[in-house]
Amino acid sequence: MTGKRSMRLSSTRLSSNGSNKSSRTRARLSKETASSDAFASDNDTQESDDGARRIKRRKVTKSRVHKAIETHAFLFKNPGTIPPEPCSPTSQRQHSTSYHKPLFLCESRGLEHRQALLSWFDSVSTTRAMPWRKSWVNPSHEPDASALRKLLERRAYEVWISEIMLQQTRVAVVIDYWNRWMDKWPTIQDLAGADPEDVLAAWRGLGYYSRATRIHEAAKLVVQDPTMQGLLPSTASELEEKVPGVGRYTAGAISSIVFGRAAPMVDGNVLRVLSRQLGIYGNIKSDKMVIDTIWAAADALVRAVALDHLSIEDSKSEISDRPGRWGQALMELGSTICTPKPNCSQCPITASCRVYNEAKNMSQNKDGTVADIEDFCTICEPFEEDLSNDPGITALQETKANSKTADKKKAPKQLTLSGIRIYW
Ligand code: SF4
Ligand SMILES: [Zn+2]
Repeated sequence: MTGKRSMRLSSTRLSSNGSNKSSRTRARLSKETASSDAFASDNDTQESDDGARRIKRRKVTKSRVHKAIETHAFLFKNPGTIPPEPCSPTSQRQHSTSYHKPLFLCESRGLEHRQALLSWFDSVSTTRAMPWRKSWVNPSHEPDASALRKLLERRAYEVWISEIMLQQTRVAVVIDYWNRWMDKWPTIQDLAGADPEDVLAAWRGLGYYSRATRIHEAAKLVVQDPTMQGLLPSTASELEEKVPGVGRYTAGAISSIVFGRAAPMVDGNVLRVLSRQLGIYGNIKSDKMVIDTIWAAADALVRAVALDHLSIEDSKSEISDRPGRWGQALMELGSTICTPKPNCSQCPITASCRVYNEAKNMSQNKDGTVADIEDFCTICEPFEEDLSNDPGITALQETKANSKTADKKKAPKQLTLSGIRIYW
């Protein structure tokens, strides 16, 4: 379970035959369904191995791996028709697996939803003044190959250091550390030649000192390796393979932000945002099936965003600033608006958010009839109780009743929705 929730749920008690069927189906399939990829987000480096070990392990068999791959392909590769309606009835969240097809990939409105998030990010990306956030280095704008290489070396190094520091502490704290680090070692070659004691001293206060040592060792390797010669690889797979301490999340961040490639970057914030957008209810910290499903979704979304570049800007280049902006937009939304207690009234992507629309349906007391669902979702944990008993919803109903009789000053609709407390 992921902390407090208004939609209080557990896997122990169910309220309808349908839910029980869902639970049984899930229990059966959870034995069969494997997570195919190792967990990694902001847990890229060795210190997080303990955390990774705490994740529920499911026995990996070929059939489970195959089932997971099949489910992800069904949801994200060719999503086809995407049901826009919230689950029905909302109080029990009965839904089929196809409910988790992302509205971001909807044929008719997907592009509009994707653009909404990017436009919002463009409007706020400089608000928090992060010095490592810079304009994308567009290779087609730099005709001099040697100058381009230098620019990319520098950007990859800057983003790499910022991402590792951001895994340690808050943005506001990292800003000072990052600025001091870059003043001292402006290039990866400078860092490679640094005194190990100086590196540890610059890291002091950030914690996990072995990370500082590992960054230093990795910098030396990247500078000395004849295939890299100071330039980090551009693909996520090569970054993970060649650079010690760089895991899936950091690799995705460097590949997309610096090199403009369609690589997913999923940290804790993105797990939360996408679980809500997709309406996946489950433990985003420990359930590998849920985590892997969100990584697969993030992969499909960033690919779609990268392809938008070809159609919107009529470009033939496969790389652009869009994948990096997209990944950072999801992280920014998760750290400023879609926080554990989300401020949906400020959210630019309510239209594509399953959870938001479920909450909206509940607030309007719309509850459908029990649907005849053959393919019950096997990803979500089942709901425990009828949400109409939720104090948040009761409070909302009281607010609505009062607003009819008292003055006409109603709380803004979306503000009221945040009273439902979507805490998952
Ligand atoms: S609508 Fe609310 S729950 Fe959905 S993504 Fe936005 S802030 Fe998060
Ligand atoms: Zn589900």
